[in-house]
Amino acid sequence: MISKQDKECKKVILVGLDGMPAEFIDRYRDKIPELKKLLDESFFSPALPSPTTETPTNWTTIATGSWQGTHGITSFHAHLKGMEVNETTPTFNTDLCQSEYFWEAAERQGKRCILINYPCAFPITMKDGITIGGDGLASEQWSVRWPDYISTRLKEKNWESDVSVFGEVKSEEKIIVKDPEGWENIPDGLSIVKEGTVTFAESEKFNWGALGIIIEDSDSEKSKRVEKRHVLVFRENGSLKLLLSKEKDFNKPITILSKGDWSGWVNEEFFGEKCIRQYKLIELDKNGEDIIIYGTMGNSLKGWGYPEGIENEIIKNCGPYIEALELTPDQALHHKWFGKDICLEIMGIQAEWMVKCAEYLSKSQDWDCMFVQYHAPDGMNHMLFDGFWSEDKGKYEYTESFMLGVYEILFKMVDRIRSLCVDDNTSLCVVSDHGNIPVKYYVNTNSIMIREGWSIFGKNSETGLWDLDTGKSVAAFAHWNSGIWINLKGREKNGIVNNEKDYHEIRNSIISRLQAVVDPNTGEPVFDMVASREALEVLGLWGERIPDIMAFSRSDYLFMSGKTKNITEEMMELYKDPSDIVPSMKAFEAGVLRPIFSQHSNLPCARSKEKDLSSMRAIFILSGSEVKKNSRGDRVNLVDVVPTISHIIGINPPRQCEGRIVRECLK
Ligand SMILES: [Zn+2]
Repeated sequence: MISKQDKECKKVILVGLDGMPAEFIDRYRDKIPELKKLLDESFFSPALPSPTTETPTNWTTIATGSWQGTHGITSFHAHLKGMEVNETTPTFNTDLCQSEYFWEAAERQGKRCILINYPCAFPITMKDGITIGGDGLASEQWSVRWPDYISTRLKEKNWESDVSVFGEVKSEEKIIVKDPEGWENIPDGLSIVKEGTVTFAESEKFNWGALGIIIEDSDSEKSKRVEKRHVLVFRENGSLKLLLSKEKDFNKPITILSKGDWSGWVNEEFFGEKCIRQYKLIELDKNGEDIIIYGTMGNSLKGWGYPEGIENEIIKNCGPYIEALELTPDQALHHKWFGKDICLEIMGIQAEWMVKCAEYLSKSQDWDCMFVQYHAPDGMNHMLFDGFWSEDKGKYEYTESFMLGVYEILFKMVDRIRSLCVDDNTSLCVVSDHGNIPVKYYVNTNSIMIREGWSIFGKNSETGLWDLDTGKSVAAFAHWNSGIWINLKGREKNGIVNNEKDYHEIRNSIISRLQAVVDPNTGEPVFDMVASREALEVLGLWGERIPDIMAFSRSDYLFMSGKTKNITEEMMELYKDPSDIVPSMKAFEAGVLRPIFSQHSNLPCARSKEKDLSSMRAIFILSGSEVKKNSRGDRVNLVDVVPTISHIIGINPPRQCEGRIVRECLK
């Protein structure tokens, strides 16, 4: 029994690592000393996520201890009663959550919480605690500037075939170099080499979908504003340097860099909006004619901290909050801006910020519970997984060393948070929201829906693009949602399926058709399970937001809603392809999917076909004075995280909590 006195000062820190599969614990245990040390002190178990095994769903599951059916955060987007059959709304939104969050329950019972980049925390649901960020995986509202690749040697790109998760963001800027003229305040004795000018276009507005960034206005005709920056290449005491500035004034630099340098955080302003970012000088030749500069994402100075005003304190003591700083190397790698080493440097900068922020808030605030989330592993999994099954030995080894580098940064971060913020009364929980399994084929679901006559698309005469005709379609795969909805009269806006008999007939036909999808190469079924919503209660899926039909694909096959609005001719070609499954590369090239080589939306226990590579199972690591050291469990559910940490700090779990206390980890 925990005494009352002990109970009062028990604290917990939860570190979230988005997308880390359970198998990676053993893969890296002996390669990363910080991970080994953590496991020696902790209980570890694979953890089954709540299906659908998506990010908003499971950070909410972890934070509430309830299943998807109860909290209602269905995949990346939710389809709600009264919407058109393919219409949805983004789920990174606490207003949609039907369960009490852990931090609300803790606050109700006199505990104070700190949330750092916890992705399901916005709009704010706490009254007293501290919330930093938390509106998703790449903030639309606080992002001022996308990363910029600024270079003299800009290649002409074919953006349609060179896409990444961030691929539609065309933020490459060319530097035009010439002999210097008109500069003010050049110190005596400096040898000036060249000057250059770079013109920045305005960043595009975006949203976040299941497969990454959705650009809202990339095709819009609106004329974009532009802004200029100047560079001056010079020699000082024999060393070659580059100055970046807004005006041609040596005394007003944004930063001065030598080749290889990072600028540290610098203040910038784009189109009247202030932001903070870093620059790195990747290349600079002695003639000042070959220059590559990378500018990281830039975030706004305020809005992302609660209570208001805490942003200045964070910026001063830790640096700015920038969500998705570590995700943008995905863009850089796909566009071949730079390779592994700089990606890992950026990830390291983000990890360093997490450590500083956790340390600063833990020492400057009264607190009982702190949640910190870092999204890096998921981004890397989506991007790098194909290297794990590559027959090219070089690619395989590159992937291995890249991924090891990622996990070294993660567990060094966890270790530093532990050494700086954890005392004898503090438990440390490290948890992921889901695992990842390979993607090699795309299930061409919209093609099946069209061929069977369930979904009907029409060409929009104004845009020249294709849209689902909701007045003629009896069913559709809702936008970024996890399943198929019947276009039911009285439930869907403009619903056309009139009665229950038709509803069941159509639904049964779709279920049978999907169950019959096989891989033509092997004859094996593509789906582990295709079922009606009523049959899915056993998986924690119940209530009005659960699709009429859900399907869970096996490893290698991606079942994901493609777009049903603004379909280009290239995408329509794919939807007209009479193959039930197509190589995923074909879907990438058609623009239906971003290039991702691993997925998570499958059953919680789905495993890769490559033996021991990965599964959908997440991780649960717990240490603390009442937890068994160096111990292991076979399985917990992510709904069990919150009841267990509630038990340890001596509070009642959140009101709708459905998980159990993981008693096997306790002494
Ligand atoms: Zn995730």
